[in-house]
Amino acid sequence: MSRHLRWPLALGAAVLLPLGFLAPAATATGAPAPSAAPTQSRHTLVDVPAEAALREAVAPSECGTTLLDDYVDGLFAEMSDEQFSFLVQHQDALLSVPTYDALFFGTAGDPAYALDSHARQLQNTYRDLRRFWDIESGDIQLMAMHSDSLLDAARIARTLEAMVDTGELAPMTDAAIAAEAQTVATYMQAQDEAFQDNPLWTFNAFAFSGEGESDPFIASLPDKLIMGDGILEAYDAIGLGDVGPRAILAHEFAHHVQYELGTFDTGPTDPAAATRRTELMADAMASYFATHKKGLALNRKRVSDALLSFYTVGDCSFASPGHHGTPLQRQRAADWGADLAAAAQPRSAVLPAATVIELFDAALPGIISGS
Ligand SMILES: [Zn+2]
Repeated sequence: MSRHLRWPLALGAAVLLPLGFLAPAATATGAPAPSAAPTQSRHTLVDVPAEAALREAVAPSECGTTLLDDYVDGLFAEMSDEQFSFLVQHQDALLSVPTYDALFFGTAGDPAYALDSHARQLQNTYRDLRRFWDIESGDIQLMAMHSDSLLDAARIARTLEAMVDTGELAPMTDAAIAAEAQTVATYMQAQDEAFQDNPLWTFNAFAFSGEGESDPFIASLPDKLIMGDGILEAYDAIGLGDVGPRAILAHEFAHHVQYELGTFDTGPTDPAAATRRTELMADAMASYFATHKKGLALNRKRVSDALLSFYTVGDCSFASPGHHGTPLQRQRAADWGADLAAAAQPRSAVLPAATVIELFDAALPGIISGS
């Protein structure tokens, strides 16, 4: 309901957009800049879904909506105009700092990054995932990201600094970073709890591996699987709290299987086609695990509902390298994984990860075309 309510503000915000949205991604690879620059996230390490959601809130497009899109609309609508305006002006801090704080500085043993919401459910599922997939996974750190980093100027500053150093943010002087960190922390401390802990700040879950990264700091980071409080709260709010967090944990774990088996190196050279393949594959593997008797034995419909609702939030840019596949393709990928689990003989037989990937690659043309 908020998208149109926000139109008058969007006119004012539009002036600011070139600063935030058109900054070219600082890629280390020298790949050509994508032509659809305004719809691109400039981050190269982590896709931040709330950025796409904010673009939709500022300038609505004809994009199909899921339950989570409607939920996100409500989060924008509940903000005062002043808060929304502050968000637009300080989006790099609000939408990225909790993510990058956990990525750069979080460790699994640090209470500041301990799972809180759904902690036991996620820990149990993580244990099940490690047993289910035949890869080396003992080195992956499972942790949470919370929004309280936004109340702390020192944490904001160190995160922005590391983002600038690694090319995730356009260059800023130390003085500008310190001023921005202080402005954001001071503002956030004065807000109500609904804004301080807004699910948008932590509306993500992601898998990270530094292997092969050229930046020495990024390459030195341990493998991580980070679950944001915001996405967990969102699933609770739309009635998928029993399945959603576990399904996206399984999707993100599948990316670690892909890292481990070198799957990212064997796909199509076109970045959009490569991302679509690994994302649809992660959906398929999540669905295979979540519906399999030896996995979570969950209902396939609820699993695919959960997968589709998160990974399509704000995601209408089908040609973008960050694109995850159309909703129909994702549905077919999730169905394929559930069918594979249902066909297991005996029911408890689990295929090696490499075999699932091989079978998926053979099925991918049909999953894409629907024929
Ligand atoms: Zn993914």
